[in-house]
Amino acid sequence: MKSSFILECINEITQMVLTHENEIESLDRAIGDGDHYINLKRGCLAIQSMQAELESMTSEDIFQRIGIKLLSTVGGASGPLFASFFIDLSKYIKINGHSSYIHISQGFDQGVKAIMHRGKSNLGEKTMLDVLIPVSEKFLALAKSNVEIKLIAEQLSIEAKKGMLSTKNLLPTKGRSASLGDRALGHIDPGAKSCQLMIDVVCKMINKKKDYEKIHK
Ligand code: ADP
Ligand code: MG
Repeated sequence: MKSSFILECINEITQMVLTHENEIESLDRAIGDGDHYINLKRGCLAIQSMQAELESMTSEDIFQRIGIKLLSTVGGASGPLFASFFIDLSKYIKINGHSSYIHISQGFDQGVKAIMHRGKSNLGEKTMLDVLIPVSEKFLALAKSNVEIKLIAEQLSIEAKKGMLSTKNLLPTKGRSASLGDRALGHIDPGAKSCQLMIDVVCKMINKKKDYEKIHK
């Protein structure tokens, strides 16, 4: 994974967050406290402001720096959860490298497991994990089967959307929405939506690149 590609992703994700203000905010207003958009925006802008510093770093150092920055700037449940993802992704690739998509998928999986550990949460609890766990499982399987990256990106985008939509009919058992019980039924989880949108942005960027050397080395 090239540092330049990670920096491009940061910019595209920030743009996406800014253009989805209403959608993200209204989901968290319905079953949370309405601040998920603000938390995401704060995190994205804090990371973007480090662009000059990040440019000269390795991928693993970029992810670690992002995690530490999110811990110190983003409150709420999602800040420390996203931070855990990046810190553990960084740890994985520091030890194992990121020379193949198998390594990257395993690093992603370690990041998702860090969220599960920190949030004491799992699949089916109406959280961001209803997107991240199935996406991670699919990524691991496709990377192991040597599927080309363009197809992996297409499949992960589809899996993320399926996971996001599944939260609509799930009962919340973690986070703020848990206290609503079945009044939360019929609503999509805001963290699941934001993760789906972020995954979609990265997958679309991968598919726009004709030269995959620009993503990966
Ligand atoms: P807060 O809930 O503190 O207001 P945010 O609004 O930024 O924080 O984030 C809410 C999102 O965080 C939820 O929609 C859910 O996806 C995710 N979340 C909350 N608690 C957990 C948890 N224990 N495990 C996994 N995800 C969680
Ligand atoms: Mg909130």
